[in-house]
Amino acid sequence: MSQVHLRACVMGHPVAHSRSPMLHGHWLRSLGINGSYKRADISPADFPQFFRSLRHHGYVGGNITIPHKAMAFDLVDRRDGAAESIGAVNTVWFEGDDLVGGNTDAPGYLASLDDTAPGWDAHQGLAVVLGAGGAARAIVYALRARQFSVALVNRTRKRAEELAARFGEGVTVHEAAELKDLLTEAMLLTNATSLSGLGRPALEVDLSPLRAGATVCDLNYVPLETELLSKAAHRGNRTVDGLGMLMHQAVPGFAKWFGVVPKVTQELRTLLEADIRATSATK
Ligand code: NAP
Repeated sequence: MSQVHLRACVMGHPVAHSRSPMLHGHWLRSLGINGSYKRADISPADFPQFFRSLRHHGYVGGNITIPHKAMAFDLVDRRDGAAESIGAVNTVWFEGDDLVGGNTDAPGYLASLDDTAPGWDAHQGLAVVLGAGGAARAIVYALRARQFSVALVNRTRKRAEELAARFGEGVTVHEAAELKDLLTEAMLLTNATSLSGLGRPALEVDLSPLRAGATVCDLNYVPLETELLSKAAHRGNRTVDGLGMLMHQAVPGFAKWFGVVPKVTQELRTLLEADIRATSATK
């Protein structure tokens, strides 16, 4: 075991809900790494000072969650290509004296689809994305990287138009009334809104026009099987839940901080599923 104790953290406000400590803690234990991963609840007012002194606080890097992702984007010394295109930083590490910011949501989403629904991208075509927030930006970036055309549907049309403008070619904006036609063509439907999550309003989507071969993905993972996924599975579509993305997006950060590429295993999934089920049962 290494003598140096390596420390990473998740910075957010609030941050008590984050499952990242459980996830990284599992990898640290199972790989026998002398390290730790803690929650750092930092208010927006204190964030710039804390973030720019990360090394001084003893950290080799960390994750950034709500509401600091945009501020982190502005405060890093350099950004990777994904963070640059998505406009948000969710993972930071040091390269020499530089604090480097990346965005691992896009590779996490793709790895989850590849893992759970192999061949989902065998026939690139249309992907429908519901939502136009921070997560949707990462999803659009990921889908464009796999050569999909993306149709965006969002409550606030202006926000979807801004997202489409960020990526240019291959991303179109539609009204909810157009979903029926879009779903007859789509190879993939992804819910990137916060609807369908625990305690949130339901997501009302009529799946009857959806092709039988299409894959349905929900980024929300509490509950694990959202109503959208349950309806999709019932009619025989392949489904991908949000827990896969959560686990896979954590891999690159862990590798940067602790020097080992961890594996997303059934054991890890079982651990997190138990925690999510316990949360769902108490609410
Ligand atoms: P966000 O930036 O706050 O965006 C929220 C999205 O939901 C927007 O498109 C918003 O539409 C829509 N929305 C919210 N309330 C609505 C309502 N009542 N009716 C219709 N649309 C509504 O959040 P985010 O960061 O993109 O995250 C979205 C979801 O993805 C969250 O539930 C988050 O937990 C989940 N997520 C999961 C992972 C993972 O690893 N699995 C990663 C990232 C995010 P407007 O633009 O009209 O407000």
